[in-house]
Amino acid sequence: MPERNGNMLKKSKYNILLPLKNSEKKMIANSLYGTADILDTDEITAYRENRFDTPIWMERGYAVDPESEQQEFQRQYMNFLDERDSDEIQLFFVPTYACNFGCEYCYQYEYTPSKIETTTSVVDAFFAYVEKEFAGKRKYCTLFGGEPLLPSDAHQRVIAYFLTEADKRNLETAIVTNGYHLSAYLPVLQNARIREIQVTLDGMRDIHNRRRPLKNGSGTFDEIVAGIDQLLEANISVNLRMVVDRSNINDLPKLAQFAIDKGWTSSSLFKTQLGRNYELHSCQKNSEALYSRVQMYADLADLIDTYPHILQFHKPSFHFVKALHENGELPAALFDSCPGCKTEWAFDYQGKIFSCTATVGKADEQLGTFYPTVSKQEETILEWQDRDILAIDKCRECHLALVCGGGCGSLAKNSNGALHTPDCRPVQEIAEIGAGAYFSDNTQPVEKK
Ligand code: SF4
Ligand code: SF4
Repeated sequence: MPERNGNMLKKSKYNILLPLKNSEKKMIANSLYGTADILDTDEITAYRENRFDTPIWMERGYAVDPESEQQEFQRQYMNFLDERDSDEIQLFFVPTYACNFGCEYCYQYEYTPSKIETTTSVVDAFFAYVEKEFAGKRKYCTLFGGEPLLPSDAHQRVIAYFLTEADKRNLETAIVTNGYHLSAYLPVLQNARIREIQVTLDGMRDIHNRRRPLKNGSGTFDEIVAGIDQLLEANISVNLRMVVDRSNINDLPKLAQFAIDKGWTSSSLFKTQLGRNYELHSCQKNSEALYSRVQMYADLADLIDTYPHILQFHKPSFHFVKALHENGELPAALFDSCPGCKTEWAFDYQGKIFSCTATVGKADEQLGTFYPTVSKQEETILEWQDRDILAIDKCRECHLALVCGGGCGSLAKNSNGALHTPDCRPVQEIAEIGAGAYFSDNTQPVEKK
């Protein structure tokens, strides 16, 4: 907790005030000290008037001596850098950019997959690079695409080879797949060290099949559902993702009920995520359907209000609000929300190196090669590694920085032309929606001491 060194107490830079639904009370949260409380109307007035004459304001970090607060910020920042050094690293490997699906919103649809197939030599070179560059680090692999689980025999052999080589090195592998060929791959997956399989369902049969058909237009829902059933029966973890926009969000209650009825949600091996459909690099074919972040969370909160069973399927984070609701305190301060070139790297079957899944496959984002020879663009890599809220002018001044973390480097670069620029997140608006969804005016986020 903050200490006073004789100066006047001031409002902490990191306070966030959130209104509560149908109430005159407000929630106050502090993203540096991790505290949160509900303020009654007298306390709100005292706060507005800077009257911090009860110890609670200082004890909870809402009123501080700015110099001590800066010291606490520095202390936590140094801890963050230390901890990131020992964080687990996620190594994406793209065995192909080809895909058997023709999703209406695919951001890779403009990429032209090369005809070259992944070879065992590239896989060997990948693991040799990983062993040398990330020696002594905790790490795991993730197969990504395109579609990493394509059906040809040659492709299945190379995926099986990759999984065996990962296993030899005690590395787990996650797989991000459209889920169409899970049944065919099951024998290979059962023998591998699989962390989880991420599969996408965008709604119930009709909606999903319209959004995520095979290239020839056939539906894919039934095959994916059968694949999920088989994975769970085989004790393999499933991370079910729904990519959401205005044209499918109303199917969420039905998909949630479907997952509940299937017994998926009662399995400890099953988890979910909602992805916002957004413009990453190029114009979407159907961009009117895209949500802003705030509108997506607002519609989600309304749906949860009407269909509370959605929470059994997925509990949205609303930035820190879900964690506060579940743990009674905010998550650790977020000094950087972009793991690219720090705890995330991406590699492709052509031997190229990229920062992450947002940039993988983009020619102008290549950072080097691991095959046939090793080369690295050290300066650009350092620029990625240096990006955090202290490297970006606007973020240094931002009172929401420790929740936002500066956003996504790739989106920032796409919008502003430079990596060390902000990708602002509507933290205040989304947290307000979350506070309305998870808290009422008689919920106390944490016990006042
Ligand atoms: S650039 Fe964006 S997608 Fe890539 S690691 Fe950073 S936050 Fe993630
Ligand atoms: S990206 Fe924008 S909202 Fe996020 S910390 Fe930086 S200035 Fe604040």
